[in-house]
Amino acid sequence: MKMLLKNINHIETMNEEREIIKKGYIYVEDGIIKNVGTDNPPPCDNSYDMQDYVVLPGFVNTHHHLYQSLFRNVKEVTSSKLFDWLVYLYEKWKNIDNEAVYISALTALYEMMLTGVTTSTDMLYLHPKGRENFIDSEIDAALRTGIRFHPARGFMTLSKKDGGLPPDSVVQKMDDILEDIDRLINKYHDPKKYSMLRIAIAPCSPFSVTKESMEETVDLSNKYGVLLHTHLAETRDEEEFCIQKFGKRPVDYMEEIGWLNDKAWFAHLVWLSESDIDKLKKNDCGMAHCPLSNMRLGSGIAPVKNMYDKKIRIGIAVDGSASNDSGNFIQEIRTTLMLQRVKNGADALTPRDVLYMATMGGAKVLRMDDYIGSIEPGKSADIIGLKMDKLGFAGGLSDPATAVVMCDAGRVDFSMINGKIRIKDSKIVNENIDKIIEKQNSISERLLNS
Ligand SMILES: [Zn+2]
Repeated sequence: MKMLLKNINHIETMNEEREIIKKGYIYVEDGIIKNVGTDNPPPCDNSYDMQDYVVLPGFVNTHHHLYQSLFRNVKEVTSSKLFDWLVYLYEKWKNIDNEAVYISALTALYEMMLTGVTTSTDMLYLHPKGRENFIDSEIDAALRTGIRFHPARGFMTLSKKDGGLPPDSVVQKMDDILEDIDRLINKYHDPKKYSMLRIAIAPCSPFSVTKESMEETVDLSNKYGVLLHTHLAETRDEEEFCIQKFGKRPVDYMEEIGWLNDKAWFAHLVWLSESDIDKLKKNDCGMAHCPLSNMRLGSGIAPVKNMYDKKIRIGIAVDGSASNDSGNFIQEIRTTLMLQRVKNGADALTPRDVLYMATMGGAKVLRMDDYIGSIEPGKSADIIGLKMDKLGFAGGLSDPATAVVMCDAGRVDFSMINGKIRIKDSKIVNENIDKIIEKQNSISERLLNS
């Protein structure tokens, strides 16, 4: 299939030279970008006229809990801090089932796609007793949406009775976890270039997983050649917990158990010392920055500017909708910029710095930068477009790409993933969203009242 996106007003390539192409085209063959330019385009089977569009590489979301879209804005915990919020919600979460996982994944993935995401990870750590194959259910949903997906098989092994936070009902035995990880990797993990589906391993956090099982995952990641992911240094409470339980602050604890390595990426990283940052850099660890979640839970402001200056791999993320209440990725990019300015002044980061984090930065965190994150020959055709004549951009077009960050961009109007058009005229192609919303609301109501 030969496809041409033509007459594009502005192409923000995010290639090595950060090239910008005006009045250009992108030529795609079988899901791969073959040519980007302004000369005469090659002949094609289909073409798409984009003369009013600003076009960017698709965004990469580096941390999420898709199931939490069923638990947004839960009135009892809209003003709680992390540990109180978790303790309340564990009791509701334990009742989820495969249908809830499937529908909530569809909801959350489509919401992100409509704000430009073409690749997402997910950390699904909730596997209540008697329930199985939750990761399979969310993969089924991802396949339906067409998104490039990198789920992380999450888990919890440290329950309340052993000094952790979660109740027994959502904590698993390590043998069962290992068996499921092995099954999932053999069934789904595709390590090849242009892969649409990879699996990572994700013990949930220092306060919900035992030291032994954290350590075991390092060997597993080497054995299978897969990435490692966890929450780290999110709050002051977590720091105190780690000092009390392990005698060390979070990053030092990770160092002790072998988790500071180039396969690991951490969500949050708010409470870091200079020496923590140097250790993360030295060991080439990645970061998923979740600014709205950090603000919503009052967790703090992560030292993103400092880490970006040190060339640590940083991606942006929406985090679970229960601590963000929205899965709007464009808002997250904008908030990354604004929040660093609160801390470091108006020139802390530029709009293009945060667009880089949203595209190439995320691709590097997920170790997919050899085939996604930029618009250039040889990369997968993961491409988004926004119409420039929308109200939110009116009067703001001196630089259309930075308008996406600085102005009110709303939704994307176009999205192509792996060469297939998934969003056209700001609508998901071939999908009845109203039906999904209806189902999602009825499941949410049932779970909240359970
Ligand atoms: Zn999270």
